[in-house]
Amino acid sequence: MTEETKNATHFGEDVFGDEAIRTYLSKETAKTLQATIREGKPLDPSIAGEVAHGIRHWAMDRGATHYTHWFLPMTGSTAEKHDSFLELKDGEPIMLFSGKNLIVGEPDASSFPSGGIRSTFEARGYTAWDPTSPAFIKRHSNGATLCIPTAFCAYTGESLDKKTPLLRSMQALDKSLKRLMKLFGRDEAHTACTLGAEQEYFLIDKDYWKKRPDLVLTGRTLFGAPSAKGQQLEDHYFGAIPDRILSFMNDVERELWKLGIPAKTRHNEVAPAQFELAPQFEELNLASDHNMLVMDALRSVADRHGLKCLLHEKPYAGVNGSGKHNNWSVAYGGKNLLDPGTNPDENAVFLTMLCAVIEAVDKHADLLRASVASAGNDHRLGANEAPPAVISIYVGDQLADVLERLESGGAHSRASVKPMKIGVDTLPVIPKDATDRNRTSPFAFTGNKFEFRAPGSTVCCSGPMTVLNTIVAEAVDRIADELEAANVAGKAKPGEHTAAFHNALQKILQASLKAHKRVIFNGNGYEAEWPEEAAKRGLPNAPDTPSALAALTKKENTALFAKYGVMTARELKSRHEIFLEEYAKKVRIEGTCARDIASEMVFPAVKTEYLETAEAFAKAEKVGVSSGTSALRENLVELGAGLDALRIGIQEIEQALEGTDMTLILSAMQSLRTTVDTLEKRVSNARWPLPKYRDMLFLY
Ligand code: ADP
Ligand code: MG
Repeated sequence: MTEETKNATHFGEDVFGDEAIRTYLSKETAKTLQATIREGKPLDPSIAGEVAHGIRHWAMDRGATHYTHWFLPMTGSTAEKHDSFLELKDGEPIMLFSGKNLIVGEPDASSFPSGGIRSTFEARGYTAWDPTSPAFIKRHSNGATLCIPTAFCAYTGESLDKKTPLLRSMQALDKSLKRLMKLFGRDEAHTACTLGAEQEYFLIDKDYWKKRPDLVLTGRTLFGAPSAKGQQLEDHYFGAIPDRILSFMNDVERELWKLGIPAKTRHNEVAPAQFELAPQFEELNLASDHNMLVMDALRSVADRHGLKCLLHEKPYAGVNGSGKHNNWSVAYGGKNLLDPGTNPDENAVFLTMLCAVIEAVDKHADLLRASVASAGNDHRLGANEAPPAVISIYVGDQLADVLERLESGGAHSRASVKPMKIGVDTLPVIPKDATDRNRTSPFAFTGNKFEFRAPGSTVCCSGPMTVLNTIVAEAVDRIADELEAANVAGKAKPGEHTAAFHNALQKILQASLKAHKRVIFNGNGYEAEWPEEAAKRGLPNAPDTPSALAALTKKENTALFAKYGVMTARELKSRHEIFLEEYAKKVRIEGTCARDIASEMVFPAVKTEYLETAEAFAKAEKVGVSSGTSALRENLVELGAGLDALRIGIQEIEQALEGTDMTLILSAMQSLRTTVDTLEKRVSNARWPLPKYRDMLFLY
């Protein structure tokens, strides 16, 4: 890094990266550690002591007094349990951090969700350092903590976290690709999955936030009539960023840069008070950890700026929700396999990968849908401004044409379609921006990567990315199987780019496309006709979390994860249980919170308004004034009817909360909301107990 860059950004200053490794470790140890990191291997125990010693000195030079194993439990957030370096030795205080402290931790894990994996008599969990994600420093106002990214598992070795399956899925894809690339005659190389996670979020003035128990407890507004001005004028998207927000963004980016996170793009989003931060893409596991830190930074920096950052998928009804576009690609030996090549051989690899992804997504759309299922995302998917709950692929017209030519090549092609032969024809140059005009697709090819747009703004990227890696590994393997079989049948040896090899590949890809092209949809995903058309094509459409999560219980899916060593049957089952329970708990918290707000805040306000109106009406009648009395009477009737409806709504929600049917709680909440939002327009502004949409959404 040049001095200029360093001074302007302080990039990576708080990360135990190459520079720190060189400065704080001996040459030999540094070399061993760097090889470990590159190859993604566990740390060599013989150097652990020196590495720990070096890391501690580096961390202490940055003001750290504590360390923690930093991990991703199944709660969906990050976890840390701090220990100080301080120890008493023969009564003398010393600072200590051993190799063992670095490599493993034993947090008491009994309060983390395990979905039945960890029995209560064996509450211990283990954290183990993941050297591919470097240690970093987390600062707070008067100190700092050394954080060691770790995987978290039970004493049986079963994973209790979101990182382990991701690492395993990357290994699975690496293995499949090594096989396939060997068939293509490529030298063995390292597979690098890449991720660029665009993060959408809302900001709200902290004073308003404090006055909204729904935002505080559930992350979204359970009530609130629409503001006269919302996003109709489309004046917020890409608009000039107000100074207050810009200074917040600057602080966030400075924090992220120090952590080695390449924050790149910032802009206003579609809804008022909605924004986006996009980093430059990185290696998948690192990018996934980094996205967790991005969310942390957004929250903590907002707090310092008198703001709150809302990461919920749908903080406000009636305006856009927030997603987290996962831009995913896969490189082999440093070359992006999803980059259309410049010669027939590279094209062949590109088309094979493209077909593999199409096949994978069609076969396992249910798993991709399950990977983004959450109570919050249910308000977004299919809600007309987010990708629909039907998983389909957008490839763009040009690539659709290429695929059609590929499918028809050789066989009886339509006269209008010029067939394309693998190994002979080159692809037309596909300009990146020509492929990305469609913003309504949940899974879009965008020039040299796929963009999975269904993930919600709070999701940990590892879930959807684990599924994507695994299903693509399977498709790649299947294609490799067929290629091998074709070669066994006789004409070409693996690796030789003979016509026979290309013919075999062409047949395999044609068959795959024929079987799976139904998942390609280049139209407008927001149109009402699409779900109907999708149903005709046999594409699954799981409208809510419980139905989406059912995919995790299917026999074939259990077998898939087991086959690729990503999750055992028990690990998958535990996740199904955990996610379902989390969903039910969240809906229940929302229902209870809605009941509380309605009965403790809204009802009393309406009652006072009713009383005041009744008094005014009675007084007017008493003094014999006729004007105004009819207005007061009508107002009184409306308010009275509102009070009655409120009472009924509260009772309905209470009844629903007694049972276990989440749909009843959700529908009771919806009807209570209608009543409350109507009353918001009837009660005087000064008396309304909650900040309104027009206040919260326009914070500058
Ligand atoms: P959009 O048009 O959706 O705003 P951009 O073109 O700005 O998207 O890129 C979005 C994200 O995709 C960025 O984080 C970028 O770094 C990432 N990206 C670009 N190339 C790749 C790749 N090969 N693999 C993964 N992510 C990538
Ligand atoms: Mg995008």
